[in-house]
Amino acid sequence: MYFRLFIWILVSGLGLTGCSQHNPLYEEGFYVFGTLVNVSIWGVPTEQARQAVDTIAHDFQSMHHRWHAWEPGPLVDLNKAIAAGQVWTVEDNSLIFLIKQSQLFSQQSEGLFNPAVGQLIRLWGFHRNEFPDDTPLPQSTTLATLIEQAPSMADIQIKGNQVSSRNRAVQLDFGAIAKGYAIDLGIKKLQQQGIHNAIINAGGNLKVMGKKGTEPWRIGIRDPSGQGVLAAVLVSGEESVVTSGNYERFREHKGVHYSHIIDPRNGMPVRGITSVTVIDPSGTRADAAATALTVAGLSDWHRIAQQMGIKYVMVVDESATVYMNPAMAKRIQFQTQQPPKVVLTDPL
Ligand code: AMP
Ligand code: MG
Repeated sequence: MYFRLFIWILVSGLGLTGCSQHNPLYEEGFYVFGTLVNVSIWGVPTEQARQAVDTIAHDFQSMHHRWHAWEPGPLVDLNKAIAAGQVWTVEDNSLIFLIKQSQLFSQQSEGLFNPAVGQLIRLWGFHRNEFPDDTPLPQSTTLATLIEQAPSMADIQIKGNQVSSRNRAVQLDFGAIAKGYAIDLGIKKLQQQGIHNAIINAGGNLKVMGKKGTEPWRIGIRDPSGQGVLAAVLVSGEESVVTSGNYERFREHKGVHYSHIIDPRNGMPVRGITSVTVIDPSGTRADAAATALTVAGLSDWHRIAQQMGIKYVMVVDESATVYMNPAMAKRIQFQTQQPPKVVLTDPL
């Protein structure tokens, strides 16, 4: 079993660790959210950059604890209260924000992005840090019961900081949006510390601000069929590049590959799409959208992207064909020896 998350930053000729006072790029990584988080900061003294990364690492550890879906903490407490049909006081404003944002994105995506399906995610064995090979697959009757109970973000009611659900089958799992929100908060925190040119890359969820000196940042998007880089994209100002891929986190059973992204309509792991990349100013929205569009698949991603207000999308299917809206195609530079087959869609 594998738990691999990669996005590649193409920063030519620079190492992965902190650099000297003379080098304007400072890079440092730390492990959180079950992935490596890399921070790249341009043009400030090394000590200032190091302190800023320390702050981000500390903040991210705290978010990881507060938003964790199965390790003891505030979200697990809330989920227990929901299962017991209780009204729960949520002290953590970031959790309230995540619920409200998720309600919006869930509604815009016609329920394809649905963080209320925590029970489905647990049933498929994804509420664990390591994946034993031999976990039994969920029984179809158990899945059918859950589908019938139809847990939805619309079931959640918020009054001030009092949270309740009219459906006890709701169990919140913010795995599809948390890292996107974290990079938004991380970039804001860097700005507060006087840093205006940086990248935060949390395993496939990346946000940039400013530039790398006089140049835009050059970001690599992983080839979902291997370890290489499929495409590069130039990004500057405040923009997020978020990729959802079914190669990232999956399990195998009797030779069958099961994605960690679940279709809430039938309770099954999604098939057919290997990766979706979304570019958007908001990391939170880009993260939710990349997951939603993976579930939407080839037939529906364009419509769902429009409903979510997304302007740049690249979808790769199992046969390695790349689907893009024209504005995205203008930004994408393929890095593979042979350019892939590309299908251009209508504008978004
Ligand atoms: P991402 O890598 O952003 O696509 O998020 C995938 C994670 O989101 C999974 O590991 C689950 O925790 C959760 N998840 C899976 N399917 C869905 C879904 N349809 N809607 C919302 N969250 C999901
Ligand atoms: Mg996501």
